[in-house]
Amino acid sequence: GGAAEPPPKLVLDLERLSQVPSEKAGPLQRYAATIQSQRGDYNGKVLSIRQDDLRTLAVIYDQSPSVLTDQLIGWGVLDSDARRAVQHDEG
Ligand code: C2E
Ligand code: C2E
Ligand code: C2E
Repeated sequence: GGAAEPPPKLVLDLERLSQVPSEKAGPLQRYAATIQSQRGDYNGKVLSIRQDDLRTLAVIYDQSPSVLTDQLIGWGVLDSDARRAVQHDEG
C-alpha cells in the first residue's frame, strides 16, 4: 500500500448492530437510525457513515475513536479494515 491509497470507508453492519444488547449499543443504534431517517435510507443491510460521525460517537461513548472502533469491530458491527480509517485520521 502507498500513501495515495484512500482511507477505507466506515460501513456499519446494521443486522449485527440490531443484535447487540441495547445497554451497550443503544446510543449507536439511535445515531444510525437518525442518519437513515435523514437520508431516507431505510432498507439497507449496511450504512456508510462519516468519519466525523465516528468522532461524535467517541464523545458520546467517552472513548477515543480508536478504542471505540476496536469495540465496534469486536461487536462485528465494523469490518477490521475500519481500524485503518481511524489511524489515518487521528493525531
Ligand atoms: P447535508 O449534509 O447538507 O447534505 C446534503 C446532501 O448532500 C445529502 O443529502 C447527500 O445527497 C449529499 N452528501 C453530503 N455529504 C455526502 C457524502 O459524504 N457522500 C454522499 N454520497 N453524499 C453526500 P441526504 O443524503 O439526503 O442527507 C440529508 C441531510 O441529512 C444531510 O444534509 C445531513 O444534514 C444529514 N445526514 C445524512 N447522512 C448523514 C451522515 O452520515 N452523518 C451526518 N452527520 N449527517 C447526515
Ligand atoms: P460500495 O460503497 O462499496 O457499496 C457497496 C454496497 O453496499 C452498495 O451497493 C449498497 O448496497 C451497500 N451500501 C453501502 N453503503 C450503504 C449505505 O449507506 N446505505 C445503504 N442502504 N447501502 C449501502 P450499491 O448501492 O449498488 O452501490 C455500488 C457502488 O456504487 C458503491 O460501492 C459505491 O462505489 C458507489 N456508490 C453508491 N452510492 C454512492 C454514494 O452515495 N456515493 C459514492 N461516492 N459512491 C456511491
Ligand atoms: P462517499 O460518498 O464516497 O464520500 C467520501 C468522502 O468524500 C466523504 O467522506 C467526504 O469527505 C467527501 N464528500 C462526499 N460528498 C460530499 C459532500 O457533499 N460534501 C462534503 N463536504 N464532503 C463530501 P465521509 O464524510 O467520511 O463520508 C463517508 C461516506 O459516508 C460517504 O462516502 C457516503 O457513503 C456516506 N455519507 C456521508 N454523508 C452522507 C450523506 O449526507 N448522505 C449520504 N447519502 N451518504 C453520506
